[in-house]
This record gives sequence, C-alpha cells and structure tokens, in this order.
Amino acid sequence: MSERITRPSPWGPLAVADAHLHFFSHHFFSTLVSQKPGLTLEAAGEHLGWALPPQAPEKLAEAWVHELDRNGVFASALIASVPGDEGSVTAATQAFPDRFFAYAMVNPRALTAGLPATFSKVHVACLFPAMHGYSIQDDCTRPVFEWAQAHRRAVFVHCGVLSVGVRKKLGLPSPFDMRFSNPVDVHAIALRYPEVPIIVPHFGAGYFREALMLADQCSNVHLDTSSSNQWMRYQAGHLTLREVFRHALEVAGPKRLLFGTDSSFFPRGWHQAIFEDQAKALYEIGTSEADARAIFGENLLRILAA
Ligand SMILES: [Zn+2]
Repeated sequence: MSERITRPSPWGPLAVADAHLHFFSHHFFSTLVSQKPGLTLEAAGEHLGWALPPQAPEKLAEAWVHELDRNGVFASALIASVPGDEGSVTAATQAFPDRFFAYAMVNPRALTAGLPATFSKVHVACLFPAMHGYSIQDDCTRPVFEWAQAHRRAVFVHCGVLSVGVRKKLGLPSPFDMRFSNPVDVHAIALRYPEVPIIVPHFGAGYFREALMLADQCSNVHLDTSSSNQWMRYQAGHLTLREVFRHALEVAGPKRLLFGTDSSFFPRGWHQAIFEDQAKALYEIGTSEADARAIFGENLLRILAA
C-alpha cells in the first residue's frame, strides 16, 4: 500500500481502510436479475435508483478508486457478494493492487474438490451459513479453512441477522435459516485453525454477547464494526454505539476491531456517515490515536497484507 491518503477525524488526519464494502459487479447484478422472471437490468436499476455497474469490473473498480480518493480512504475490501463472482473482485484488485483486498462469497456445499483456482488471488473467503443452509461446524467448510491456512488468507463468517437489502427491494425471496448464525458455532473451527484470521461482521449482528464470548476464547477472531448496526435494537435496554465500542474494546481489544462501512452501490457511494458516527463514538469514550489508527486501518493491513 504505497499511497496513504488520509481523511479528517477527531484525532487529526487518519489513514482509513474500509474492511467491509460490497462490490456490486455487473455479474452480481445480472445474477440477481436472472432470479426473477421478466426482470431486466435496466428495470432493476431504475426501480432501485442505482447506477448500473459497467460490464468490466476494472471500470467499476475505477469508480470506487475515485470515490475513495474523494473521501480520503486509502484502501478497502471489495466483497464479491454472490458465489462465483470472485473473478470480478480479483480483476479489480489486480487493476489496483494498492487499494483493494478481494473478498469473495463461497458456498462450501457446492464445492466438489476444495476452492477453485479462481480463488488464488482472493484474500478473504466469505461464508454465509444461514444463507446457504449449513453449519459452520459441518465438514463442508473444512476446505475453506484449509485453503486459508495454506495460503495465509482469512475467512469471513457472517453470523446473526442476515438481510440482503437489494434482494428485498427487488422482491426476491430470501430463504435463509437463522439456526446457522450463532457465533458460538464458530468456536471449535476457530480453535482448530488458530493461525487463520476469522472475521465476524457487524459485531455478530445481534449476537453481540456470543461474538464477544467467541473473541475472548479465540485470539484469531476479529469483529468488523460495519453498517449502521441496526441489531442494537434487539438488545434489552438501550445500547448505544459508544457502549458497543467500550464493551468490544474491553473484551477483544483494539487490535481485533476492523472498521467497515458496508458501502455497496452508486450513486450513494462510500458511506461517510458510518465513519463519522463510529469515529465520534470512539473518540468520546477516550480511544487513543494509536488505537484509532489500528481500528481504522492498520489491523486490516496486518491480517491481510502478510
Ligand atoms: Zn455487508
């Protein structure tokens, strides 16, 4: 990562990397559209009010580079958000290797012999057990962890409440199964692969206590802070973002929190308000500049740029 642009923050200019940004590629969009008979790309784009992604992933990557530059963000994850779309994010990371990390969704139940060669340039394999109907403890996930261990890569495990906004808006069914979403289920596999960094997004998305229990037991577990964290409304009593951060810092510490926004589409682009809210909350609870640098970028680089 040669270029370290910064953005203003309560601590002064801060080098920011976003650990959670969806790359809604042309392939991703076409895949969703094909799931609804009669729907066209143009009609879907119009209905959503989104700019349709260019056909070439490099072009969409260029748009994100421009957007990150505009916001003073020096690097970000790019998440391929349907299985089989890793080619889009690896094309993007190859075009801009200093700016992006390739994350790619995989359905381990559909694998026949380990991860395909198309994963050779992927940094993080993303598992969504509730979406694809398997337990993270199932043997089908082993090849993913074996791949991560062999190539020093990370595994992202979505836990908690899963709602894919774009599916809802397009009227696509989301036959997910929340039984497979408890972070406690990650315990045994995290212990079995202690060198594989595991990322649980959105502080466990409703399973905050369980995500903290997991992080406390497994030093390879990291929590991403992304999204507006609507799961806080499931919590008994009134939980604020400040309290979430204070608690997460107490248990997981500053080296295992990864700032993320959950940005995804244009014209909205990079979700600046998420940064502002999280930076404010962390500053107000007295987070040091060193810890802020870790949470907002250095931790991601440490676990992925090895
Ligand atoms: Zn997301």
